[in-house]
Amino acid sequence: MPRQLAREAPPLHGSARAPRRARLMSRDQAAAFLRALAAANPAPETELLYRDPFTLLVAVVLSAQTTDAAVNKCTPALFEAAPTPAAMAALGAEGIAPHIRRIGLWQAKARNVAALAQQLVERHGGEVPRDRAALEALPGVGRKTANVVLNVAFGENTMAVDTHIFRLGNRTGLAPGKTPREVEDALVKRCPPELLRDAHHWLILHGRYVCKARAPDCWRCVAAAHCNYRDKVPAPPA
Ligand code: SF4
Repeated sequence: MPRQLAREAPPLHGSARAPRRARLMSRDQAAAFLRALAAANPAPETELLYRDPFTLLVAVVLSAQTTDAAVNKCTPALFEAAPTPAAMAALGAEGIAPHIRRIGLWQAKARNVAALAQQLVERHGGEVPRDRAALEALPGVGRKTANVVLNVAFGENTMAVDTHIFRLGNRTGLAPGKTPREVEDALVKRCPPELLRDAHHWLILHGRYVCKARAPDCWRCVAAAHCNYRDKVPAPPA
């Protein structure tokens, strides 16, 4: 008889692929949840270092599957060496690679950044287009990156769903969904319009520092009164 392998119990608070799901918040509750985050951080900003739409675009492309902190260690020297699309295209993948070797997928990212800089020069006059389809046509740029650039660089009401927002949307009941796109659509529909632009930052920062993947710090969460998560984590013993 083959020995039965012991199955590992699923993580108590869910995983990146299978986040825990809470009951859907009412619209009033969703607005109160976001307003509580807003009150705690009235002027939220991206943690990525950038100078302008082009350097923001590059920083977001580099941040895929790595942390903003890791990207911020590489980009000041890279942007000093190549502050514009023309300079970045001239630097080329071989010149970009030594600057970003400490981050994951650096070889593919070096190729993408060189190619997207070249395309900006050839097709967009060296400017970052304020247009979703044009952004998503650039190498290494998907819907999430386009949403960040449209939001942060151009002030549009987009919602970029990363791993933190996907988890939070499900765990809290704010915007449950099986895919990032479902969570994005639910958030855009359910966020009060005046909160939508900054909601992206509030939710990412809340997921990164409070409503964390392994275990949320519910005991110090400013929005706990509005959250539908059933297994809220109490304060650790003093
Ligand atoms: S109460 Fe807990 S689960 Fe709900 S948002 Fe706050 S940290 Fe996350």
